[in-house]
Amino acid sequence: MKPEELRGQIEFYRDLGIKELYRRTPSADTPELRAVEPVALPGLSPAGDTLQRISEDIGECTRCKLHKGRNKIVFGVGDAKAKLVFVGEGPGADEDEQGIPFVGRAGQLLTQMIEGTAAKEGIPLKRADVYICNVVKCRPPENRTPEPDEMEICGQFLFRQLSAIRPKAICALGSTAAKALLGGKDGVTKLRGKWHKWSDIPLIVTYHPSYLLRPYNQNAKREAWEDLKKVLHFVYD
Ligand code: URA
Repeated sequence: MKPEELRGQIEFYRDLGIKELYRRTPSADTPELRAVEPVALPGLSPAGDTLQRISEDIGECTRCKLHKGRNKIVFGVGDAKAKLVFVGEGPGADEDEQGIPFVGRAGQLLTQMIEGTAAKEGIPLKRADVYICNVVKCRPPENRTPEPDEMEICGQFLFRQLSAIRPKAICALGSTAAKALLGGKDGVTKLRGKWHKWSDIPLIVTYHPSYLLRPYNQNAKREAWEDLKKVLHFVYD
């Protein structure tokens, strides 16, 4: 890349602002970013950041109102060097109790989806081989959708987790995760089926397992299956 092109990119990202950059990370659907190769994002997370350090920085967090109703902070689980990271919305009652993401009914379905799809596709993969976390680390009351300020505050830790792990791909589960990672207002139906990017990491959006648990969503189940196949082959072939 020529120096003036590099300078142009740096200025482009600087003008976008870090906050805006997180909201509108390069996506194949964003015309003004389509032509721009993602660059390394200096200063977005501390050099040599680790999951342990991020967890220590979260500490006994009281940065947003969700801390008031929480039992345990649900940081994330899995391989710190995973090639694939799943991002959900926020902990439910079971997760809040155990401090581990996706351990309730939706979690059991997610485990089945990961391990079942991998087995069918001949990919030796267990849940423990991927990394699983959420946009917000504390349970929203009555399992409501996290509010923008909560997503903004907790999102910085999610971004640090993703930057520290640097997976080969990310799978956003549901609209909240998709919005947190891609910005914009589009939901899963619009976003699924094609590749996006968070920072320079390829990202697939699919249905949240809770949605798939509802009995009338047969079509969505088939589509989620297709999405998982796509991301697993991309990462593990
Ligand atoms: N739903 C989520 O989005 N995350 C969990 O950890 C559990 C249920």
